[in-house]
Amino acid sequence: MSKKTILIAGLGLIGGSLARAIKAGHPEYHVTAYNRSQAPRDFAMQAKLVDEVSDDFEQLAVAADVIILNFPVQLSIKFLETLASLPLKPDVLISDSGSTKQDIINSAEKLFSGQAVRFVGGHPMAGSHKTGVIASDALLFENAYYILTPSLLSKPEDLAELKLILSETHAKFIDLSAAEHDAMTAVTSHFPHVVAAALVNNADDFSDKMPFTKNLAAGGFRDMTRIAESSPDMWAEILMSNPDNVVDQIDQFTDKLQAVKHLIQEQQSDAVWHFFDQASKLRAQMP
Ligand code: NAD
Repeated sequence: MSKKTILIAGLGLIGGSLARAIKAGHPEYHVTAYNRSQAPRDFAMQAKLVDEVSDDFEQLAVAADVIILNFPVQLSIKFLETLASLPLKPDVLISDSGSTKQDIINSAEKLFSGQAVRFVGGHPMAGSHKTGVIASDALLFENAYYILTPSLLSKPEDLAELKLILSETHAKFIDLSAAEHDAMTAVTSHFPHVVAAALVNNADDFSDKMPFTKNLAAGGFRDMTRIAESSPDMWAEILMSNPDNVVDQIDQFTDKLQAVKHLIQEQQSDAVWHFFDQASKLRAQMP
């Protein structure tokens, strides 16, 4: 029997880290990688992250038993469209690592309906502000949640197969529907990035009036806005592929701000104290 061939498509931070973990956990697999530019391909071969590299996606795809797409979500959908036009191996298992899941699941179900293709969405919930294969790390996902989203094109055993392939990530795997994934990550990740960016832009606007303001932006402001340095390309993309959930969060949060605004205007100091006390107790219970 020939070796199982795993294609890592996109050798960035996430693709490179997955390649490292898969190769470490399964020396018996043949791990291949597609990347458009040459420097990451050379790096991956020299660091022995993979066994074979190419800029020819189609040639690697038709030889693969498992394909993991590690691109921005809309680009992964374009690669799915390419895959749908190729003579793939029967029962090929396709996954991705994108930060939203409903768009890609919908596309996969439409493109591969009736075909011998299995699709399971994936989102390893760890990362870094760094990008590129040079920053990749086999332990990037250690103890992080790795969410797998089933589709109409998958069975429970397909999720189990993917978990085995990815076992050396040492991530905590959980299965969620794409809708659950996108709703929850809007609350804990996507919307907080909007708030962090808005806080920074707000301080900048105010600094036009009082330029010394920025020098006072320490402590709490720094803690709350660290993530505002994240990649604008990635975050614009993520919000565009989870608009309804993010807009719901903005509406809900606006109501909360209005409520506390009224309490302050009405000098309701006890109620304001309870607002902070509730948050303080809830925050202390969070992992
Ligand atoms: P990255 O910038 O490090 O890598 C992106 C990859 O996409 C590179 O291989 C690049 O060559 C390729 N690429 C970009 N445009 C291309 C094009 N037009 N044609 C061919 N290839 C192209 O990004 P990353 O951090 O590895 O992110 C990959 C996916 O993982 C994204 O969907 C992201 O949302 C998701 N994700 C990122 C993090 C994180 O913190 N970085 C965490 C979890 C999930």
